Formats: sequence, C-alpha cells, structure tokens
Amino acid sequence: MLQAEPAFRSHPFDDDKLKEECGVFGVIGVSDAANFVALGLHALQHRGQEAGGIVSHDAELGFNSARRFGYVRDNFTKASLMETLPGPLAIGHVRYSTSGSKGPTQLRDVQPFFGEFSMGGAAIAHNGNITNANALRRELIDRGSIFQSSSDSECIIHLMARSLQRNIPERMKDAPRRVEGAFSVVAMTRTKLIGVRDPLGVRPLVLGQLGDGWVLSSETCALDIIGAEFIREIEPGEMVVINRDGVESHKPFAAARSRFCIFEHVYFSRPDSILGGRSVYETRRQIGVELAREAPVEADLVCPVPDSGTPAAIGFSQESGIPYAMGIIRNQYMGRTFIESTEQIRNMGVRLKLNVNRALIRGKRVILVDDSVVRGTTSRKIKDMILDAGAAEVHFRIASPPTAWPCFYGVDTPEREKLLASSMSTDQMCEHLGVDSLKFISLDGLYRAVGEAAGRDPDAPQYCDACFSGEYPVAPADMLANGFQLKAAE
Ligand code: SF4
Repeated sequence: MLQAEPAFRSHPFDDDKLKEECGVFGVIGVSDAANFVALGLHALQHRGQEAGGIVSHDAELGFNSARRFGYVRDNFTKASLMETLPGPLAIGHVRYSTSGSKGPTQLRDVQPFFGEFSMGGAAIAHNGNITNANALRRELIDRGSIFQSSSDSECIIHLMARSLQRNIPERMKDAPRRVEGAFSVVAMTRTKLIGVRDPLGVRPLVLGQLGDGWVLSSETCALDIIGAEFIREIEPGEMVVINRDGVESHKPFAAARSRFCIFEHVYFSRPDSILGGRSVYETRRQIGVELAREAPVEADLVCPVPDSGTPAAIGFSQESGIPYAMGIIRNQYMGRTFIESTEQIRNMGVRLKLNVNRALIRGKRVILVDDSVVRGTTSRKIKDMILDAGAAEVHFRIASPPTAWPCFYGVDTPEREKLLASSMSTDQMCEHLGVDSLKFISLDGLYRAVGEAAGRDPDAPQYCDACFSGEYPVAPADMLANGFQLKAAE
C-alpha cells in the first residue's frame, strides 16, 4: 500500500552554480534495504537537496513509499519513518527539480514514481531530463493517460503502462526507446532491481555489491558509505536486471558513441567518486595543472573558492610553484549558498557562507580558482570580499570553459541570456567582474585533464560539452519547438 504523504515546504538555493538535479540509488538482497538506500541518498545529497523519496517492497507488506521535502538526514533517519519501509528491496531518489517543471514543487513531483500494472507494481527513479517530454506527454494524455505530477519522468511510467510486453523488465526496455535525452533510471518490481542508462550514457550509474546483495547508485561515493564494493559502471545503452540469481545485462538500444557529461568531472560528482576509472579528485587536480600551464600569472597565493575549486587550486599551485592557501573560509554549517529571491539577500548569502582570511590576504596578489562562472553574481561578490580584505590584485582562474549554453540533460541552468558567457567575451567578463585577469581552461585542456591526451575530437567529441560548445548531442526537441536557437554552423 502506498502511504499518505505529509505537507512540505520547498527550499531555495544559490542560483549562481549549475545544479545537478537528481541522484538515484537502489538496493536488493539485504534486509531493511531502505536503511541502506537512505544512507546512499545521504551520500548523494549534493546531487539534489530539495526533496527525497524511497519506495521499498516486502513480500508480506507489498510496496511502501515515503517522500519528503528537505535533506535526507532530516527525514530518513527517523525510526518511525524507516519502519514503514520494510523489505529487502528498495530504491530512492534525491532531487533538485526537474527541468520543465519549474515553479513551486509539489510533493507529487517527488520521486520515485510508482505504477500498478496488470503483472504487478513497479517504481522508478530517474536522473536526467527527457528532451521530448512535452510532445510525449501531449501524446500520452491524448491517448488517455492521467498524469499525477508535473514531472517529465512520469512519462516513463505511462510508456510502460502502454507497452504490450508481458513483463515489467521487457516494458522497461520498451519505454525508454520513445524517450529522448539523458536518463539514468533505477527501477524495481516486487523481485527485481533494474538499472537503465541512455544510449549516450550522459548521466552516471554504477553497480556495486553488498554481501549477497546488489546496489545501483549515481556515484561510487554512495557505495562507500554503506560498505559496498564497486563492481563496474552500467554501460551507456545498457539495462541490468538484478534478482537473487545475479545480474543480467541487456542492450535494448541501438549502439551509439558515448557522450558522458564532462561537467560531472568538473563539479557535479563528489571528489571521492570514481568516474570512468578515474578519481574525480585527481581529474580536478589535473584541471588545475592544465590551467596553470595555459594561463600562468605572477602572484603570491593560489586560493580555492571552497569547496569545489579546491582540487583545481591544489593542481594550479603544484604546477605553478605559487603557494596554496585557504584565503577563503567556508562556513560548513550553511550548506549550499543560501538564497532568496532578491539580489540583496542573495549577496548576503555568499557572505554568510564564505569569509575571507584577512590576515593571509592583505597586500597579496591572489589567484582565485573556481569551478565555473554562471551568472557571475557570486564571483563579483567574492572579488569584492578579497579586495575589501586588502588584496593587491585578484586573478580568477576557472576550471571549466565559459558556460555559454543551457543544459537540457538534467542540470538546472539559467536561460541562455542569463549566462554571463552567452553575451560577453572573456575580456568583457573580466571587466564586468572587476578583476585583474580572468582565464578559463580551454575545452582541449579540459579534455586532456579528463584523460584524453589528444584533447577534444571536434568531429566526434568524446563527451557531452554542450554547455560550453553549444553542440548538443541530442537535439532538445521541446526547446526547439519553443523557439530555442541552436548555435549557427561555423
Ligand atoms: S550540457 Fe553540460 S552539464 Fe549538461 S550534460 Fe552536457 S556537459 Fe553536462
């Protein structure tokens, strides 16, 4: 039985970073699987802080679910709640919000979604974004589907309901064939845990083993927290069906060249995760090394904008020989930057979260290393704080190329015109931010840092880098229908 859900309140966040919109996690074959899922979601909290949900299945008590707004630790640690989620099979989801359903989120938009089919129930949790969701939704509604939420991800449940296949795993293969965009899905039936990754493998999904049980997770860091062993990544275009007999692998989609999200390496994934066999921390450190080679500058200190700029700042310092220092201290208890709707409060939010180490900064030429510049509002504020503290010079070095295009694959991005790099050159941004110099890593430099020694292949890019290059590996059909203009051919 699915249980009634309590009322909620949504939670605002800093809008000067791109935000991953979801993390997914699932466990089969261990008692009280939901407890492990709660821990896994806690480790994936950086992928979405607005809300979370867990569905579990128990042979006697059937399916149960709980969905809540707020942090995992504030909800899914309560014994009274976790006791309502019994059984050896559970999946969960943390979300920011899914593209296409902006505005106040309703609890009904919080995943996992559940569907009752003639052959039994199934729940799904989706990380990514369906780029033809509007068209699909219209079609499904015309054909009689009744949507419960405003989330694009619910299309998958309705496509499964319409499939003529005789069992749920076969319907799980069928449904995503109509879906365009990026998806890493974790799903469950009464007896199976299922993982599916889109043909380009834009969003991550990994397989782990926990004793006799199995785990699916957005990132390896969430395997570590529950003591699970990392087995492998789910391949792009692969579907795994896991039951008590083990893991079956299927390839339901036409083969395609992988286009993993390169921004996962730069910012979204946790530095203690492994992506593509590489430590995210080490990749970020290497980005700093490349940045120091590409954009050297004479200075006294290299300081990270904490926390995401830290590994790149270490790499920059190691390569340049300029001392590394914690010139900005982050208040660990603020969570991600506080935000309200006005510019004034937003700016206070940065000050509440970050403070300058004045004694260190005074009179120094400072290189600040940050992961990205989105709107530039936070960068300007940080520069002001550093100058107020008496720095002689401020040089920004950015561990990603200019973010000039929105993401349509499961990352919350401002509209194109709000991205500073969409309308300004690097020199103009430098002037706008009021810093002594501003340099971004090149796309080739970024590719080298993630392990592509020859850089980016312009004819067949190895990653999705659309937010930098404007070259979208999957046409954003709904956005194009709404008038979005792709980059003109060069
Ligand atoms: S557009 Fe950018 S953020 Fe989105 S999937 Fe591609 S690389 Fe990642």
